Amino acid sequence: MKIHQIIAQLEMLAPLSLQESYDNAGLITGDSNQICSGVLITLDATEMVVEEAIEKGCNLIVAHHPILFRGIKQLTGKDYVERTIIKAIKNDIAIYAIHTNLDSVLMGVNHRIAEMLELSSRKILQPKRQLLQKLQVYVPETHVAELQQALFDAGAGNIGKYSECSFVSEGVGSFKPEATANPFSGTIGTRQTDKELKLEVIFPVWIQAALLRAMRSKHPYEEIAYQITSIENDYQDVGSGMIGNLAKPMDEVLFLDYISSVFNNKVVKRTSFIGKKIEKVAICGGSGSFLIQKAIACGADAFITSDIKYHEFFDADGRILLADVGHFESEQYTIELLHDFLREKFPNFALQKSEIRTNPVFYHISKMD
Ligand SMILES: [Zn+2]
Repeated sequence: MKIHQIIAQLEMLAPLSLQESYDNAGLITGDSNQICSGVLITLDATEMVVEEAIEKGCNLIVAHHPILFRGIKQLTGKDYVERTIIKAIKNDIAIYAIHTNLDSVLMGVNHRIAEMLELSSRKILQPKRQLLQKLQVYVPETHVAELQQALFDAGAGNIGKYSECSFVSEGVGSFKPEATANPFSGTIGTRQTDKELKLEVIFPVWIQAALLRAMRSKHPYEEIAYQITSIENDYQDVGSGMIGNLAKPMDEVLFLDYISSVFNNKVVKRTSFIGKKIEKVAICGGSGSFLIQKAIACGADAFITSDIKYHEFFDADGRILLADVGHFESEQYTIELLHDFLREKFPNFALQKSEIRTNPVFYHISKMD
């Protein structure tokens, strides 16, 4: 198996086009045409993780955080980023990052956290816009069913919990085949009017090329009349954070103990208690304080994330219980998520989870009185 075959599956889970503009997800080092000797999964591709990959015979590291975030002008080994890159290149190790694109897909980072917390009625907290397009294509009745199926198979027609959504209307199309044409119906030089159906489906932007290929493969016309339009609707399956309900309401202390154990962190930074039971919970793995207001607006009793700044704790304003569980801790289950995903796709392949705890943050719990 080649490295690019593994990458192709990862990009089915989390398309690269969904990464944020500041991000650097994708293949960072290495040749994707190389045979893959094994995959090592980690949150951070550090120098020690590259060493671990060498020891374990894995030439592909799949990391959540991109080791290269900004442009570099020299590669001299003066800091840990450059040393990591140099070590990876010298040892033919490919490093692939699956970052904010994995944060924003329905089955991504927050899905796994929601599973761990056993949240029900889950929804994306802040769905993204401008990710949906609509295809309208004119087709003779004889070919509509086959075309429709091909478009669904290519990933069109999904709306929330419904798949295979489309709309078909009937009308009359006109055309005149010019001298060099090879028309499906009608004759050269004569205007023809035919009964046609208009088939409409919505689809996420990143499948556009595949969808058009599918359309061309099943459409009988030499020149296909179609339009693609952008639509403004939120895309419910992609966005930031997630919100859902606990199995049963908990009082605030119990809730904090619960998340302490789920995230394996005895130190949870929090705001003052809001004086009610916690049931509706918003989550965002990694730095999620940009979602505080959204979590409040959606009626969350608590919001679990990390990297909340001092002034952002004030923003809770007694309306929500904010809980900062630590960045690494909040994303630790991403390793399991990637492992389980790849294991399902490649049941007998050499896949390993890194044994190195890459968290650069330690907690000192003083025993002083
Ligand atoms: Zn992160």
